Amino acid sequence: MSDEQYQGYELGPIRPPSEAGSLLLRITRNCPWNKCRFCGLYKGEGFSARSVEHIKRDIDQIKSWTDYFRTKAAGTDAIRPENEGSMALSMAENWTHSGMRSIFLQDANSLVIKPEHMIEILTYLRLNFPDTERITSYARSQTISRISDEDLSAIAAAGLNRIHIGLESGCDAVLDLVRKGADKKTHIIAGQKVKKAKIELSEYFMPGLGGKEYSHQNAVETADALNQINPDFIRIRTLAIPDSLEITSDYRNGISTRTNDVEMAEELLLLIQNLVGITSFLKNDHILNLFPEVQGRFPEDKANMLAVIEKFLSLPEEDQMIFRIGRRTGTMVLLKGLENEDKRAPIQRIIEQNDINKDSIDEICDELMKRFI
Ligand code: SF4
Repeated sequence: MSDEQYQGYELGPIRPPSEAGSLLLRITRNCPWNKCRFCGLYKGEGFSARSVEHIKRDIDQIKSWTDYFRTKAAGTDAIRPENEGSMALSMAENWTHSGMRSIFLQDANSLVIKPEHMIEILTYLRLNFPDTERITSYARSQTISRISDEDLSAIAAAGLNRIHIGLESGCDAVLDLVRKGADKKTHIIAGQKVKKAKIELSEYFMPGLGGKEYSHQNAVETADALNQINPDFIRIRTLAIPDSLEITSDYRNGISTRTNDVEMAEELLLLIQNLVGITSFLKNDHILNLFPEVQGRFPEDKANMLAVIEKFLSLPEEDQMIFRIGRRTGTMVLLKGLENEDKRAPIQRIIEQNDINKDSIDEICDELMKRFI
């Protein structure tokens, strides 16, 4: 047991977009690695694991509040719980309204705790919320590669049924460059272990992470890693670069060269072309991604996904610019929006009024993307 006092129900800073309706349960605080040069999320924050006892107290609070809200919704007299944690109250209320179907374990790498602790937490969650369909966590490949197959299977049996891994790249040179703390081989081992444990697996890819220098290699090597893993989901995450990131200094210092939207589209095209023999579903579910419509299952939707990117790359530069500004200002979502004069005209006005041209568009898009971070 830890000496730390219970601070009440805790909430970490992020969750994947697919966990919008989930109960968020903080298992650890921040990131035990915290060295990736493209990530500023936990910089300056120390890592710590919460005690199992404190996590169970969070679960108890959520349980009493969800029982209260469900009883009230059923029209029966409900006794308001005495514990007054407002954070637990609002989380439980949101979760009850979302149907209590899923739980997300925070923060960056929950699987770093001892397997027996994870099993105890999952068992307690399943005991209190037996109807929950999905329990998900982020995890680092380095961490998973060190968990035995037996322990991972026991964690799966206790109820963890989805893991998100930030693969980012399958290219060793890129992984080194951004100090990911895992190489291609470790990513493959970790991904295959998760699949073997029959836990649903999402792998994240960041187009452009290796800059122009590694763009080709990044696509080809990442596709090769993903082909060997065959994750359930491949999720695209486009890199935005706030000034505070170390990778931004790398661009300024000429260590690597930032890829623009068009170059990232070329890299994504090459990645998809090289994805073979897999049955993964590719998701483009982040606001920073250029092509939300490029998504589907392999192999049957591959041709359609490629067609969207090829269409963009074949557009005249002016149309590419309209789409990029439209996408980055949130006024055009799909490429076919270019065919709609009512959507094009206001974006063309923005371009004219702000004197956006081929020399300034990359910088302007980077600035616009910062608004969504
Ligand atoms: S492992 Fe994840 S959370 Fe940790 S520094 Fe890297 S990207 Fe950020």
